[in-house]
Amino acid sequence: MTTYNFCAGPAMLPVEVMAQAQQEFVNWQGQGCSVMELSHRSKPFIKVAADAEQDLRDLLAIPANYKVLFMHGGGRGQFSAVPLNLLKSGQSADYFISGAWSSAAVEEGNKFGQIKAQDIRVKNADGNRSLLSPADWQINSAAAYAHFCPNETVDGLEFSTLPQTTVPLVADLSSTILSRPLDVSRYGVIYAGAQKNIGPSGLTVAIVREDLLPAPNSAIPAVLDYRLAAENDSMFNTPPTYAWYLAGLVFKWLKAQGGVAAMAKLNQQKAQTLYQFIDKSDFYRNDVDTVYRSWMNVPFFLADERLNDLFVTEAEQHGLLALKGHRMVGGMRASIYNAMPLAGVQTLVSFMQEFERVHG
Ligand code: PLP
Repeated sequence: MTTYNFCAGPAMLPVEVMAQAQQEFVNWQGQGCSVMELSHRSKPFIKVAADAEQDLRDLLAIPANYKVLFMHGGGRGQFSAVPLNLLKSGQSADYFISGAWSSAAVEEGNKFGQIKAQDIRVKNADGNRSLLSPADWQINSAAAYAHFCPNETVDGLEFSTLPQTTVPLVADLSSTILSRPLDVSRYGVIYAGAQKNIGPSGLTVAIVREDLLPAPNSAIPAVLDYRLAAENDSMFNTPPTYAWYLAGLVFKWLKAQGGVAAMAKLNQQKAQTLYQFIDKSDFYRNDVDTVYRSWMNVPFFLADERLNDLFVTEAEQHGLLALKGHRMVGGMRASIYNAMPLAGVQTLVSFMQEFERVHG
C-alpha cells in the first residue's frame, strides 16, 4: 500500500530524494563514509553546501545583495534572531498577527524590544475566518521592520500580496517557501524552518538583505548573529550538515520538477481538488475565506465531531497519515506541501468520499 504523509512538519520529503539518500547513505560518492560523517570544513562538504545555496538562489532568483544563511534554531530561533539583529535601541517593529505562528513571533519579540502588534484577523460577510488585506495595514514609517507570516500552518490562512511600504518586510515563510514564486527583492528578511518544504528539521534558512546585517561585534548570541553567519559561510559553528545535504537534494529535485512556477501550478491544483470536494459536501467543512485559503495546510472539520477518532484511524488504515488537526484547532488538517503528489490528494478525497458514504 502506498502511504501518504499529511503531517504539518516534519513533513514528507520527495520519494525520489529519500531513495537517493538511502542509496548514498553509507558510502557517499565513494568517500568511504556517509556525508553526515564528513567534516563541514572538508572540500567535498563545502561543495555540497555551496551547490545547495546556488540551487536555492536559482530557484528563488535571489538577488546578489542578499545573503543566504543556513542556520540552527528553527522558526522559533528566528523569532529571536530577527529582533536581535534588526531592532536597534529606541526603535520599534510592527508585527501583524494572522494566526498562531505570527502571534508566537510577537511573544518572543517582546523579550527583545518594542513590538507593536496588530491583529489582522477578521470575519468576512459569510462569517468565515479572513484577514485584513496587506494593502490596508498601518505600517509605522519609522518601524525597524514589519513582520508577518504569509502562511499560517495551524490556522490554514495564506496570502501572497504585500503591503506597500519602504519599511523592510520580514516574513516567516516556514510553511510556504518554494511553493510558489515570490519576489525576494521586496523583502528585507525571509526565513523558514526547513521541515516542510526544504528538508529535515534542524536546518533553518534565512535570506537577509545585506544592508540589514547587524554591526560587527554586536551583542547578539553568536549562533543567531546574521553577520557572523554571513561572514563564515554559515559555518561559524558546526552546521546541521546532513540536513543541509538533504536540502540540497530537495533543491535539485525541485529544479527537475520545473522549479517553483511548476510547483505553484501543481500546488494550486492539489489545493483546489481538496477544497472543491470539501465545499461540495455537507459532511466536511472548511471555514476560511476562499481568498485566504492556504495551498499548503488545509484544516477541515467533520459535521459530526464524534467521528473524528474513527476518521483518523480509518485514514491510517488506508495509508493516509497524520490527518489529526492541530491541538489548538481540533478537527483535521491535511498538509500538502511540495512533496505531496496529486495522487496523494486524490487518494485522500476518495477516502473522504467513502467515509462520508458509510457514516454520513
Ligand atoms: N513558523 C511557522 C509558520 C511554523 O509553521 C512553525 C512550525 O511549524 C514555526 C514557525 C516554528 O518552527 P520551529 O518548530 O522550527 O521552531
